[in-house]
Amino acid sequence: MEEKKFGHIDVYKLIFESSTEGILVCNKEGEIKMVNESITRIFGYEKEELIDNKIEILLPNEYKKSHVQNRYSYSKRPERKQMGAGRDLFGLKKNGDKFPIEISLNHMTIEGEFFVMALLTDITTRKNQEIAIHDLNAELELKVDERTKKLKENQVLFSLIAKNFPNGIICVLNKELKFTFAEGEELTKSGIKSKFLLEKSYLDSFNKENRKEVEEKLARAFRGEVVSFDINKRSSVYQAHVVPLIYETDSEVSQILIVENNVTKIKSIEEKMKQSLQKEKELSELKSQFVSMASHEFRTPLSTILSSISLIEKYDQLGNDEKKKSHFEKVKKNIRNLTSMLNDTLTISRIEEKMIEVNLEVVNIYKLLAEVIAETDGLKGENREIIINFAGEENLKLDQKIMKVVLANVLSNALKYSDKDVVVEVAATKEELAISVADKGIGIPEVAQAKLFDRFYRAENAANIQGTGLGLNIVKSYISLLEGELTFKSRENVGTTIFIKIPITN
Ligand code: ATP
Ligand code: MG
Repeated sequence: MEEKKFGHIDVYKLIFESSTEGILVCNKEGEIKMVNESITRIFGYEKEELIDNKIEILLPNEYKKSHVQNRYSYSKRPERKQMGAGRDLFGLKKNGDKFPIEISLNHMTIEGEFFVMALLTDITTRKNQEIAIHDLNAELELKVDERTKKLKENQVLFSLIAKNFPNGIICVLNKELKFTFAEGEELTKSGIKSKFLLEKSYLDSFNKENRKEVEEKLARAFRGEVVSFDINKRSSVYQAHVVPLIYETDSEVSQILIVENNVTKIKSIEEKMKQSLQKEKELSELKSQFVSMASHEFRTPLSTILSSISLIEKYDQLGNDEKKKSHFEKVKKNIRNLTSMLNDTLTISRIEEKMIEVNLEVVNIYKLLAEVIAETDGLKGENREIIINFAGEENLKLDQKIMKVVLANVLSNALKYSDKDVVVEVAATKEELAISVADKGIGIPEVAQAKLFDRFYRAENAANIQGTGLGLNIVKSYISLLEGELTFKSRENVGTTIFIKIPITN
């Protein structure tokens, strides 16, 4: 075939030559008869090298043989078609490089001769892009797979953590304050299935008083705040931390996370620690008060004892037995005072440390009173009486030791701070023992009355009378140990009445 046969239509030639697709025309025998510029560019051959050569020169070796066959079949049943449907086609460059191509075939008969026209496109770039896209997709898919796997793992991990969250509950609430998630050891322990809680209101477990407060706190979390508060539920104390979890918009929260911690144990330990700290403080206060009291109150009797002893020595030499005896008495009295001071201090620290137990037994209260009076005889002196008005039961269930200390203290005060008769009234029933001790002595100044039961407290008008200010403090502690009442009425220079009431349990 001659080029000029086409040559007379210049526009066609132009299209033929300028087409970016390679155009190639073969005859029935597969001999290349015509190629355009693009073919030479795609395959790297000069036109002259191709013309009259078999088309198979442009095919990779492995396709050459089958192509001859294909070409033969095509010439038998020619049609317009895309070549290599469903499979990749390759071309062979002059330099031996194999590359992907796309081919569409057509046929024509010119002056009785059969020709095949092939339109060829080098699709290396497209193929590469396809491969790149494919690889990218595969990579993405792998990443998605990994992420999903991780997410699933995380979910399992989270729910495992939540389920085993010790001493508490982790839950998520929606805007209606209904549970959308709830897990935790506390739930497991209490036998509540987390499924049971879903769609139930978080507020259900609160009583009316707490509900409003909790609601307000949660509302703050829905406004984006982090909130912490203590809650009382089912006789336990919980510490709740609330944080916004899921945001609908930048400022609107749709779900909040609550982490509840049962802190009952910690709180009670805290409380116990506070108490023991307080006790410690009180004890050390007592100790320092005792030291300052002792340095004052011990010095006087000790120096009295010392001077009495040296006087005894002197009177011994002089043979004055009368004076000797009176100083022996002084020594004894002061030693008794010292002992009672030490005893009082010991009693107080034993009360403080809760070491005293109430020992109830049947006690004849009248006899006990007589015993106490006999022991305070030294204080009474000669010219006055202790008058007892007794009414009611004599035998009552009481703690004998405690009653003795109480009565001795109150009675010794009445005798110490007055020089007139003392009246003791006792009214005893099976339910209650009521005792009053009245004197007509120096009385208690009004300013002193509020502090009267304080440890070491002494009123100013009692300064010249021996005492440590511990007696009534001990009485007060003992009476409250017996769940009784201790009150008094007093006017300075008129007199004082102490009232004691003790419930009797049978
Ligand atoms: P002690 O430890 O030896 O008993 P005290 O008598 O001073 O010393 P409390 O019995 O505790 O201590 O009494 C405290 C203070 O209350 C007394 O110092 C005194 O001022 C005042 N008081 C107590 N009883 C009477 C009373 N019957 N009349 C007047 N004042 C009293
Ligand atoms: Mg006293």
